[in-house]
Amino acid sequence: MITPNTHYADLKDSYLFYNIAQKTKAYLAANPDKHLYRMGIGDVSLPLCDAVIRALHEAVDDQAKKENFHGYMPECGAPFLRETIAKYYADRGVTVSTDEVFVSSGASDELGDILDLFDRGSSALVIEPAYPAYVDANVMAGRKIVHLASGKDNGFLPSPSEEVKADILYICSPNNPTGAVFSRNQLQAWVDFANENGSVILFDAAYEAFIEDESLPHSIFELDGAETCAIEICSLSKTAGFTGTRLGYTVIPKKLIRQGMNFNEMWVRNRTTKTNGVSYIIQKGGAAVFTPEGQKQIHDNIKVYKNNAKVLMKALDKLGIWYCGGKNAPYIWMKCPDGMGSWEFFDYLLNEIQVVGTPGEGFGACGEGYFRFSTFGSPEDTVEAANRLVSLLGKK
Ligand code: PLP
Repeated sequence: MITPNTHYADLKDSYLFYNIAQKTKAYLAANPDKHLYRMGIGDVSLPLCDAVIRALHEAVDDQAKKENFHGYMPECGAPFLRETIAKYYADRGVTVSTDEVFVSSGASDELGDILDLFDRGSSALVIEPAYPAYVDANVMAGRKIVHLASGKDNGFLPSPSEEVKADILYICSPNNPTGAVFSRNQLQAWVDFANENGSVILFDAAYEAFIEDESLPHSIFELDGAETCAIEICSLSKTAGFTGTRLGYTVIPKKLIRQGMNFNEMWVRNRTTKTNGVSYIIQKGGAAVFTPEGQKQIHDNIKVYKNNAKVLMKALDKLGIWYCGGKNAPYIWMKCPDGMGSWEFFDYLLNEIQVVGTPGEGFGACGEGYFRFSTFGSPEDTVEAANRLVSLLGKK
């Protein structure tokens, strides 16, 4: 009899978004005339920008002509896109060669697939609260997980410590769910720690485009020594509205070597075995994001989300509620008022003012007592949600 991967039995039920959906459904069934202000969504609400749409259309037309038709694409990515992305790094002063850039179908796929590069006996450190996939992908592989709780005292940006070592170190900055961003010095400490211990950092930069403070690093490769200890995983999902179109990229430096094995070469071997590349049409659309016109247009969209963040931050400031995030990230992480628990606060907001957010407890135990607002919703709903928050919590 075949033995399945029994580690799947070790997965905790992912009840977070299921519970939210059940609770909101039940509320609407009981109150059919009410409108919900959905500040919980992690999906974008604005469409793809014009430059991308035009490039996608042109690429579709290419596929109709024998002379321009593209079949299988190179497994690691089309040269035109790999070059464009390497230049995007160069423009920020980071040297990345074209063959250190790998085109992917998105960060989620890559965060799971990349674990093929590590022994199953290796351990993974997850800074919590965390994007749930980090833990689950490692549980599926039977890896030991080291949980590093963060909190208000360190602004949800913990420093490395000798007591919490692991082989793989997950760092997400700007962070989902807290919106906190590591400073250059803080991130340098993690890079030094990884190099000293022979660990590898998996740096999730899905929200780098939301950084507006000049001093904050967009890429881990802006730090000294990162090329010998880090892999960077990026996505166009939130940057350019590709959640449904699917495109991302990963940077694996050629200098990343452990026990004589080169991770860049291993990933080439992995991709050429396990994928047949990303669609030509989508890669053409992705390349348009990096043109001057594309950059302007995606940043116009990001500005809309940033205005939503400003509206919510202003409301929380007025109420004197502690929060982090919002300025350099599309998420705002607030302390629930009056010592309320995350789910208690969720129910309170849903029932009293029809505002839906995400309970912090769903991102790890240390998220209890906190609440996440996403800024990807409509500006009209965000303004109304902020007004309702102020009138409800201002009364307390
Ligand atoms: N990493 C983080 C931190 C995310 O929040 C998300 C999506 O919400 C992803 C990765 C996945 O991105 P993608 O849509 O590229 O799979």
